[in-house]
Amino acid sequence: MSKSRSSPPQTEFVEECPTCDAHTPHEVSIEIRTESRKRENAQFSREPYRVSRCTRCGVDRAQRMNDA
Ligand SMILES: [Zn+2]
Repeated sequence: MSKSRSSPPQTEFVEECPTCDAHTPHEVSIEIRTESRKRENAQFSREPYRVSRCTRCGVDRAQRMNDA
């Protein structure tokens, strides 16, 4: 890995981290997750999630984007 650490990635946002109990830089990405809603209709829905990972403690949180 020869990745330069001099400049942060564009996907870095300062957000509140409940684990650190502080505002820390987070790496944010969008992830499509397939989830099954109910067993009776064996239909899978693909939901976009906003995944933010705390760069300090490494905990990531996924938040469904369709939830208003
Ligand atoms: Zn954290």
